Amino acid sequence: MTLPKNCNVLIIGGGVIGLTIARALKLKGVEDIVVIEKEEVIGKHASGRNSGVMHAGIYYQHDSLKAKYCREGSQLMQAYCHEHGLKVLKTGKVVVAKNESELNTIKSLYERSKQNGANVSIIDEKNLKEAEPEAKTFEKALWSHDTAVIDPKAVMAKLGEELLGLGVTVVKSCWFLGVNKPHQILTSQGKIHVKYVINAAGSYADKVAHAFDVGKSYTLLPFKGVYQKCQAGSAASRIQGNVYPVPDLRNPFLGVHFTKSADGDVYIGPTAIPCFGRENYHGLKGMGTETFNILSGSMKLFVKNEGFRHVALTEPKKYLSYCLYRDAKKLVQHLDYKDLCKSHKVGIRSQLVHWSTNSLVMDFLIEKGAHSLHVLNAVSPAFTCSMSMAQEIASSIT
Ligand SMILES: Cc1cc2nc3c(=O)[nH]c(=O)nc-3n(C[C@H](O)[C@H](O)[C@H](O)COP(=O)(O)OP(=O)(O)OC[C@H]3O[C@@H](n4cnc5c(N)ncnc54)[C@H](O)[C@@H]3O)c2cc1C
Repeated sequence: MTLPKNCNVLIIGGGVIGLTIARALKLKGVEDIVVIEKEEVIGKHASGRNSGVMHAGIYYQHDSLKAKYCREGSQLMQAYCHEHGLKVLKTGKVVVAKNESELNTIKSLYERSKQNGANVSIIDEKNLKEAEPEAKTFEKALWSHDTAVIDPKAVMAKLGEELLGLGVTVVKSCWFLGVNKPHQILTSQGKIHVKYVINAAGSYADKVAHAFDVGKSYTLLPFKGVYQKCQAGSAASRIQGNVYPVPDLRNPFLGVHFTKSADGDVYIGPTAIPCFGRENYHGLKGMGTETFNILSGSMKLFVKNEGFRHVALTEPKKYLSYCLYRDAKKLVQHLDYKDLCKSHKVGIRSQLVHWSTNSLVMDFLIEKGAHSLHVLNAVSPAFTCSMSMAQEIASSIT
């Protein structure tokens, strides 16, 4: 499709956030919605490269946006998958402890889950054997009954198809370049006159927001999430759902875990390795003029932020499959190094940093400009939350 001259709402970014907002607006009766996506396909970045876990709301502070959207978002996304014949694995998940010191965090997670309305139990080793025979824990584990897994690529394809049917214009290979005048946006396919703009540009959302004079004290830093796969036939490949470690609650990352994907393969990952470009998936590809700024930002955080320092010291070695293996082995009964096989699955988790406090922003951040709204920090579990968040955003601007 080519770029029209005018629209009511222009959405920048064809990831799950942009597409679900377009859908929610359309279902509210808004006409003339245009989505621009810089790639030739939708879902090429985080939305097509994630674990597909529909989180149940066990990690998040009760007053956070993550907690607010997670349960409803998961239900809406699962209902959407059922309605359109897409796979949903209702597998549940266990969070397992490695030692006594982690038992307190299991208790804290239980309390947070209850506050957030998630359906969880604390179980002992015997119950764990029944729930997830291949997992192992120190004395107690948290069992989240409602965690599920969907196929993110299939969801993205269906959303794209549905929007086409609803009459939403999705213009691919079209870059947002800047704001020409208050209601005139400059793109790689020319100018468009807009009433309202929604920024859902994922790992570039900070840059887009800055062009509207919004969110100037924040930038996004990229972290690479690599995965390995469990060999078919290995004990770990028989994992039925999700096995997660107890997380470090100072950081937004959940730790390397086992996830059974919708196609039945069991993955180990993702890591959260600080990397050198917003789309630096492999080797030097995706590094560019920004690499120096990313490096100097990372150095500053390394000095000032203890949680980040821990991530920077522990995660990069997981590039080596043996180190990833050593970490993963602590969560399960049987795992040999030869049970791991290489996976090409890799995603970038862009994490918002607030530079006045040198902190990693833990929650989603949604900021408004004069005629614009910006979804900053659409980190995990934003795929889970997307439909609920989209409904609220659509209501807030109609
Ligand atoms: C490894 C990994 C595992 C994850 N696991 C889970 C999980 O299990 N469960 C869960 O709920 N969440 C998970 N997440 C998080 C989830 O994938 C993201 O939060 C979500 O996909 C973010 O969606 P988005 O639309 O904001 O970003 P994206 O999918 O990145 O979409 C943004 C789009 O904007 C486009 N864009 C950027 N700049 C411009 C521009 N200037 N002009 C036009 N277009 C532009 C990009 O090309 C991109 O397609 C995971 C993420 C990663 C990386």
